[in-house]
Formats: sequence, structure tokens, C-alpha cells
Amino acid sequence: MSALLIRNAKILTMDGTRPRAEALAVAHGRIAAVGDEDHARAAAGPGAREIDAGGRTVLPGFIDPHNHLLSTAESLAAVDAGYPAVTSVADLVEAIAAEARHTPAGQWIRAFGMDDAKYPEGRPTRRRLDEATTEHPVIIYHVSGHQAAVNTAALQHAGISDDIADPAGGALLRDEGGRLTGMVVDSAMELLLPLAVDIGCHGPNFHTDLPADQLLGWLAAARDPYLSAGLTTICDPQVSKRELRTYRAARAAGTLPLRTVGMPLSHQLDELTAIGLAGPFGDDWLRLGAMKFYSDGTLLGGTAKFTVPYGERGQFAGSMYWEPEQLRDLVTRAAREGWQVAIHTQGDAAMAHTLAAIDAAVKVSGPDPRPRIEHCGFPTVEQAKRFTDYGVIPVNQPNFLHDSGGDFLRRLGDRAHRLQPMREELDLGLRPVLSSDSFVSSLRPLDTIANAVRRTTREGASIGAEQAITLHEALRAHTLDAAHALGMEDRIGSLAPGKLADVVVLDRDIESVPVERLNEGAAWVTVLDGEVAYDGRAVEV
Ligand SMILES: [Zn+2]
Repeated sequence: MSALLIRNAKILTMDGTRPRAEALAVAHGRIAAVGDEDHARAAAGPGAREIDAGGRTVLPGFIDPHNHLLSTAESLAAVDAGYPAVTSVADLVEAIAAEARHTPAGQWIRAFGMDDAKYPEGRPTRRRLDEATTEHPVIIYHVSGHQAAVNTAALQHAGISDDIADPAGGALLRDEGGRLTGMVVDSAMELLLPLAVDIGCHGPNFHTDLPADQLLGWLAAARDPYLSAGLTTICDPQVSKRELRTYRAARAAGTLPLRTVGMPLSHQLDELTAIGLAGPFGDDWLRLGAMKFYSDGTLLGGTAKFTVPYGERGQFAGSMYWEPEQLRDLVTRAAREGWQVAIHTQGDAAMAHTLAAIDAAVKVSGPDPRPRIEHCGFPTVEQAKRFTDYGVIPVNQPNFLHDSGGDFLRRLGDRAHRLQPMREELDLGLRPVLSSDSFVSSLRPLDTIANAVRRTTREGASIGAEQAITLHEALRAHTLDAAHALGMEDRIGSLAPGKLADVVVLDRDIESVPVERLNEGAAWVTVLDGEVAYDGRAVEV
């Protein structure tokens, strides 16, 4: 493990005692010194590798506190059905047909990211997908992850015909004649692909049963996209035995791409309690953090629970996973065991139940409970104020405002401007964080940061400009405050002597970039655990 000197840099340390510096030294996997070049050079010692940053910005490695690493790895290996790669049903059919041409007959074709709200033809039908292939079962996941479109071969593969009844908590959509259209919603998705785990009604199940060596290979291949984006730590917000087994195997094989924190889904509370296990548990590479719960459904899928239903015709009444007292009891039981809690919550009606659960949970938690609210879409002004009573950490994903902001403006009207009110949360003294929810949106932190600063939709419309935050606030929310959300701010998230040496040298001076081009940057060099783990200098022209 050789020492490293980074000099001639614009270092934003996120450390209040020394916010800016020009050089830093790394030795033995730790930050050895931060300051002027002479001081850092002395700390690095003779023979240290040297990086002349050429005036580029240097930051603590980015931390994504809500990033489905394994599912992202799966999606990176599948057909990209995301917008704007696919903008219509016709595009979708063509993309699947292209994949079918080099896929052995009978093998599943999987695609991720379908955003059919943007298709001129509306939702795809299985008849259209049959035009792409009848030789392969096809499943195309909706961008929300909670719905899918399938072809006839997929239905036949699963033994599903028109006379099947809808399962509890899900549906197979039908035409006027009662025939299946190929759209499957929520729990009905489980009828198609075998699942690795039974999670009951604790959340959406995307834990598909796939061969372990395939999952491990995809995870290893995700290293480059993650490290080239400057990420050094992620938190997978929905871990079952499928994820934890794969992460453990990757760790043992040396192929875990970056530091990984897992949040077990609440269906495992009793089993973990039975063996006396609660988070935080593990080490600086692989650990369990908070426990994950679901309050309502998804904003994109039309199942978020608002006091006033949304949609152009008020057609989305939303749905809850639990009765209020069930959620409160579940969350409180976990808190009593020592778990930090993290509750998926979008609409204001769901937020009321979530706050009631948090109110009960913090009474039995330790002195620093840090309850997280995942997505935290639409807290009212009063609800946001109540966050300060408990130190709630809102876990935001402003990429949604960009990717789907036009749909939100249409479906939510003026309420869309109050989605993810980060300005207000910061002004209240909270420590909201930024995350991607990858595979649902881009995993690149500079996309997320740009969207938090700009708050404009893909089409260029403003969405809640008064809730925009500054570049420096956004950088902090993706580094130091993200570490705080994971309870790891003593080790990562800032550049100070003694901390783990996770550092990103960006490919530009980010402070001099115009706002509209903030998203264009990437990592130039990523240092993980004291080693150069990604080096973009070789690919520069
Ligand atoms: Zn998520």
C-alpha cells in the first residue's frame, strides 16, 4: 500500500475546521494530512505516488445512501428501456427484437427503465411485444420497478392464462374482452419470475431468483460505472438474503465494487431479533445499517398516498402497506432492538402515519436515533417542522424531478413544486441527503447534484425553484451528510487526518462550471481505501 500525494488541487474537505486546501496526503489507507503542499508532501513521505490535480476539484468520495447496487448491476447487464434510449412502443419493440437476435431461444430477455408515460402510443401490449419475439419470454420493468410489461411467451412460461385471478396486492391488466394485456402490476409480478425470497406484504419484491454466479459477475462488472462516477460508498436500501449473500460472496472474492451498507427489509425483523442481531453490524466494507420499512406506494406508479388524490382526474388514491398502528408497532419493535429506522414515504397522508411511527420509535431508541424518511416526497410545512423534533433525515432523489417532473406537474399540479423541499429542510436545520435510488435513476452523483441545484424538468420547466439548494449544500448532502445518515461520519464523508482515504478528483473545477453544465462532470481519479481504484487519466486525449 503505497503513499499518495494529491497536489495543485482545489480541495473541498467538508471539514469545518479547514474547508479548503491545496494538497492532501494518503498513507496506510487513511488521510495523513490536508493542507499546503509542503505539509502534505512531508506527511506522504519519500516515494509517494503523486497526482498533479491541475486545479481540479477534489472531494471526499461520494456516498449514495439509497442505491440498489445489486439491482443496478442487474439492470446494467439488461436491455436499456429507459428514456430517452426508448421513447415509444415502436422503439421498445425494436430494442427487444435486437436483443432477441443474439439471445438463445427460450432464454429470458429482461429490460429495465420503461417510462410509458412518455410514449405517444401509451402502454405497450403483449401483442406488440410479440412482434419483437415469440421465441423468448420477455419482461420489461417499469421505471418505478413496481410494474412490468411482458409478452405472450412470458405468460405461457409462467403458466398464466386469461382465467387467472388477480393475486392480493396486485393485478394483471385486461382489455374489454377480459384478455390479459401483458401489463402486470405490483404483487402480480411475482407470478412471472421466480423470487429468491418471500417478503410478505413488507414491500415490492424485486428480489428475482437468478443464478449466484450470474449475480456475482454482474456485480463485479458494476465496478467501473460506480467508481468512474466518483462513488466510494453506497447503501442498498432493501436487502434480503439474496443481496447479503451476493455481497458477502463478492467481498470474499475481492469483487465488491465499493463500500456497501445494507438495510434489511422489515420482513426479517423477527429472525434477526431471534439471534440478537441489529445494526450497525459489520465493518467498513460491508455492514448492516438501518432497517427499511414501507409506508405508502410510489409516486411514479400512482400509488403514493396523498390527502387529496392526484392524477389528471384525481384517479390516484394511493395505497398503504400497513394500517397506521401496524406500522407504528413494527417500527417501534425494530427501534427497541436498536435499529435505526428508514421508512419509504411519499404522500402527505402517508407522512402522517410515518411521523406517528417515528414519534413512538424515538421514545424507545438510543439518544441519537436519526430516523430516515426515504424519498420524503411531500411533507407539508407542518410535517417538515415536526422533523426537527426527531432529527429526521429526509433522503431525497432530485433526479426524479428531472426525469419525471413533467408528469408530476401534470398529475400533482401546484403540489409538484413542493416535492422534496430541500431548501426548507436545510433552513429548518435538518441534514437532508442526496441519493439516486439507482436503478430507478442515474447513479452518477453529479446528475443528482445538478438536479438538486437546478430543479428543472427534462423538458426545461421549473419545478419548485424556491426549493433549490446551492452547489456546496448539494456536495455536502452527497458526502458528509450522507455519511451522517449512515452513522459513519466519524470515518468517511470528509477529508480530515485519520479518516478512511476515500477521495475523488473530479475531471474539472466544479465551482467554475455553469449551472446548466454541472451534470457533465465525472471522476478523473477515484481513490478507495487509499488505493487508486479508478484512473480516468489514461483515457484522456
Ligand atoms: Zn429505492
